[in-house]
Amino acid sequence: MRKPIIIIGAGLAGLAAAWKLKEKAEVFEASDAVGGVARTYKCKGFSYDLGPHVLYFRNLKTQRWVEEILEGRWRRQARRARIVIDGEKVDYPIQEGFLQSDRLKRRFLPDFLKATQCKEGNFKEMAANLYGSALAEDFFIPYNTKLWRYPLEEMDKEWAQRFLPSFPRDDLKRLAKGETLPRGPNAYFFYPEKSGIGTLSQALGEGLRNRIHLSTKVTSINTKEGWVETNSGTRHHYSYLISTIPLPEILRTSVDLPESDRNRAKELRSVGMVFVHLSLAHPLSEDSHWVYFSDPEICFHRISIPRNYSDVMIPPDRGSIVAEVSFPSDKNPDIQTIVEKVKMDTVKSGIVEGLNDITSHDAQVLRYAYVFPTMKGEKAREELRSILREKGILLAGRYGVWEYANMERALEQGIKTAEALC
Ligand SMILES: Cc1cc2nc3c(=O)[nH]c(=O)nc-3n(C[C@H](O)[C@H](O)[C@H](O)COP(=O)(O)OP(=O)(O)OC[C@H]3O[C@@H](n4cnc5c(N)ncnc54)[C@H](O)[C@@H]3O)c2cc1C
Repeated sequence: MRKPIIIIGAGLAGLAAAWKLKEKAEVFEASDAVGGVARTYKCKGFSYDLGPHVLYFRNLKTQRWVEEILEGRWRRQARRARIVIDGEKVDYPIQEGFLQSDRLKRRFLPDFLKATQCKEGNFKEMAANLYGSALAEDFFIPYNTKLWRYPLEEMDKEWAQRFLPSFPRDDLKRLAKGETLPRGPNAYFFYPEKSGIGTLSQALGEGLRNRIHLSTKVTSINTKEGWVETNSGTRHHYSYLISTIPLPEILRTSVDLPESDRNRAKELRSVGMVFVHLSLAHPLSEDSHWVYFSDPEICFHRISIPRNYSDVMIPPDRGSIVAEVSFPSDKNPDIQTIVEKVKMDTVKSGIVEGLNDITSHDAQVLRYAYVFPTMKGEKAREELRSILREKGILLAGRYGVWEYANMERALEQGIKTAEALC
């Protein structure tokens, strides 16, 4: 019998690869459901995604394919995102939003108009060069310190350049005069109608059901002999292996890789995330899809409000939020403490009326959520990718390839990797 192509992981990348490979592939998924990070959780009648998970497309072909998978049951929505800064809530992006408040305008506009706008220096210097020192100090520096849990001065310049978009001074002057600017490509997104973002992986997984093995964790890989072993102790031989699991995990799992290659996992940096879901007795008045918080005294950097994506996410007349709290991937977060702090801070920040309004909570932990695109990490990633490829392991997906990929890219990587084997 011909050996199958084994795909590790049934997130969007793994599902897309399996969809393309049809009966040639078998998928092993550690958890009890498909979807990976883009999965929708259920808790006492409430549904929630892991933070905001909305679909953007650059490639029309991918957009049409996803539309077909969802049978057109999705809705294009205008993004409603806000930022809380210095106790005031304004529209995202902050470079435009602060103009909505006279107080913030007085504080940030003079500095912004004086900024050199050159993308030079480390993250902190670059933020001040681009938006003025007041906005850098009140938003960009505290927000990113909270998210990345890493000294911003030590971040790579390339990383900073990617994460700090320039905002032309002339555009700001036009906005300050009351003119409107055209909305950018990310000002709109698609979201499923029937439930959360997990609807997409459910629909993709539907046609592949007998080839997806849930609760089947790959625990070791022998590339010389071409087999994977799963948590049940069973060995499965493969012709090729597609891995969509985090790159450090594939290094740990591949038993016949030299120690020097396995040790390179240390060069791959990332932050993990605790997602705290709170169900509330009353609906929230907040109509944003998500809200950013830069205040270092508030433990989360962002909250999202499931009802504002789709009514079906929560029971009528109730409210819910999902707060995101990051942690270094090599540490273990103290979930109970984080949950309690999130509850207090949602009240402190005025999002939730009082602790009595919180009726239940749930928490999900993602050890790898955001990868740091450092120069050292990118070099390691490229070298490891070719070492693994020579051994018959192809990498796909956000954590497999170890890059800042969105859902569209994860899907495309899955398809492309499968095509390389077809
Ligand atoms: C907080 C957050 C918000 C985001 N928001 C957006 C957004 O708004 N829009 C957007 O386009 N993208 C967004 N993304 C990115 C998007 O989630 C990813 O690009 C995409 O879901 C990655 O899919 P994947 O298949 O590559 O990885 P994953 O979803 O991680 O899939 C990997 C799978 O492998 C499984 N696995 C792990 N180890 C093993 C093992 N040993 N054996 C078997 N299976 C294993 C896991 O359980 C998982 O199901 C966001 C990401 C995060 C973290």
